[in-house]
Amino acid sequence: MYSYRGGMSREQSGFLGRKTINDSLDKHLEKLSPPASKRMNGNEGDRLVVPSTSAGLFPELKSQSKSKFSDDESDTDSDESELSGSDGEDTSWISWFCNLRGNEFFCEVDDEYIQDDFNLCGLSSQVPYYDYALDLILDVESSQSDSFTGEQNELIESAAEMLYGMIHVRYILTSKGMTAMLEKYKCYDFGRCPRIYCCGQPCLPVGQSDIPRSSTVKIYCPKCEDIYYPRSKYQGNVDGAYFGTTFPHLFLMTNGHLKPQKPVQSYVPRVFGFKLHRP
Ligand SMILES: [Zn+2]
Repeated sequence: MYSYRGGMSREQSGFLGRKTINDSLDKHLEKLSPPASKRMNGNEGDRLVVPSTSAGLFPELKSQSKSKFSDDESDTDSDESELSGSDGEDTSWISWFCNLRGNEFFCEVDDEYIQDDFNLCGLSSQVPYYDYALDLILDVESSQSDSFTGEQNELIESAAEMLYGMIHVRYILTSKGMTAMLEKYKCYDFGRCPRIYCCGQPCLPVGQSDIPRSSTVKIYCPKCEDIYYPRSKYQGNVDGAYFGTTFPHLFLMTNGHLKPQKPVQSYVPRVFGFKLHRP
């Protein structure tokens, strides 16, 4: 058990408490960087765009999160996937995080990459509780952690999630990160295109914005070159900025052989068997 959590299990802190944690982190971030809400107003027409940080993270999806505990037929994950086996000390924070339900799109970032300050350039000003969050990600025990209140622990946990996401979006553009994502792509970890004529084409995760808390992650189909909501609503709650706008396209440029042919068939609407005349 990690002392940061003050007796709170990882499932509680990362899953049950996510809504309240995000609320408090939003408040904290608002104080930290007031211009953020202004930047978001100018974002592209994603219906999930949050006009102001005071509205919280993805308010439309919060209503969904209430039903997190009910069974969802569209979600193929078993309940076990949310729990990464035991909460023992053998499990690193990174593997625990990547095994949480909904976090299936994340690959495990190398400790080595995170330990190199150069790779984290600029993040300390964007993430609250940066040092504590970084220690948590790297499983470094802090002597101060015992003095944190429950609320502080929650904020640090949430900040760690944000920090990991912002490291992740950089990592997946490196050759090591891209290899890790290739392995996941081969296992269809990012789901398949729901379009009939794409014949189950595996997809890649993509963000519609590189600014955190602008919109949720989507999946990009390399065949029809369109984006879709992830099939699992748990995945649909994940910030798109943790994957970024560049990743799938750079991935397909790097792995050119994986770029499929454009679909030859397309759907033709018919009425009594006749094609519709379009004015
Ligand atoms: Zn498609």
